[in-house]
Amino acid sequence: MKIIMLGAPGAGKGTQAINIAKEYDIPHVSTGDIFRANIKNGTELGNQAKAYMDKGMLVPDELTIGMLLSRISEPDCEKGYVLDGFPRTIPQAESLKKALTERGEAIDAAVDIEVPDEEILVRMTGRRSCPQCGATYHVSFNPPKAQDVCDRCGHALTQRSDDKPETVKERLSVYHAQTKPLIEYYGNEGVLRQVDGTMKPDEVFSAIMEALK
Ligand code: ADP
Ligand code: ADP
Ligand code: ZN
Repeated sequence: MKIIMLGAPGAGKGTQAINIAKEYDIPHVSTGDIFRANIKNGTELGNQAKAYMDKGMLVPDELTIGMLLSRISEPDCEKGYVLDGFPRTIPQAESLKKALTERGEAIDAAVDIEVPDEEILVRMTGRRSCPQCGATYHVSFNPPKAQDVCDRCGHALTQRSDDKPETVKERLSVYHAQTKPLIEYYGNEGVLRQVDGTMKPDEVFSAIMEALK
C-alpha cells in the first residue's frame, strides 16, 4: 500500500498518517520530520532546509526530492508507506511518479484532508509536537494524557518554531499557490480520495478507512 497525504498545514496529515501506518503496518514517512531530524543533528541538509522552514517557505525541490526518493528505497519501504508532507509541488509529484514507474510501481491513493483556512490557524497555534517520535497533539482538541508529555514515548512535548501565527499565514499562502494544484493532479491520476477533516480525529480516521476500501 502506497499512500500520499494531501491537505493544508494543520489539516491533520500527521495525526492520520500515524493511524494509517499502524493500521497497514507500513512506515510513516514525513519529510518535515526528516528535515527536523537533520536540523537537530546539525547536518548540511538541515542547515540549508532550516533557512526556508523558519520563513514558512518550501525547501527547494533539488534538496527535497533526492532525500525522499532515497528514504523510500530503504528496505522497510518495500511493503509500502504513507507519505506525509510529500509531494508539495507538481515537480515533486512528477519525480515520484517517474521513480515509481521505473520500478513498475504506482501510488494507490492520495488522501486529501479538507479543512477551511479559518480553522487551520486555531489548530496550528495549539499544536504540540513530540521531537522524539513525531506524534502531534493539540492543547484542547487532542491533549496528551499527561500535560506536555508524549503518550507514545514519554518525551517532553514542544511547540514548533514555525507554528507562530505569522509563519502559519505564510505557509497557508504557499499551500494555496504550490501544493493545492496536486489535488487536481491526483484526481487526473484516478487515485484521489477526499475526506472532511473538520470532524473529530477518530471520525476522520474512520472516513479515511472507508475511502480506502
Ligand atoms: P505541516 O505538518 O504543518 O504541514 P511539515 O512538518 O510537513 O509541516 O513541514 C514543515 C516544513 O518543512 C514546511 O513548511 C517546509 O518548509 C518543509 N517541507 C516539508 N516537506 C516539504 C516538501 N515536500 N517540500 C518542500 N518543503 C518541505
Ligand atoms: P498536519 O500534519 O497536516 O500539519 P497535524 O496532524 O499535525 O497536521 O495536526 C495539526 C494540529 O491539529 C495538531 O495540534 C493536531 O493535534 C490537531 N488536529 C489534528 N486532527 C484534528 C481534528 N480532526 N480536529 C481537531 N484538531 C485536530
Ligand atoms: Zn513521542
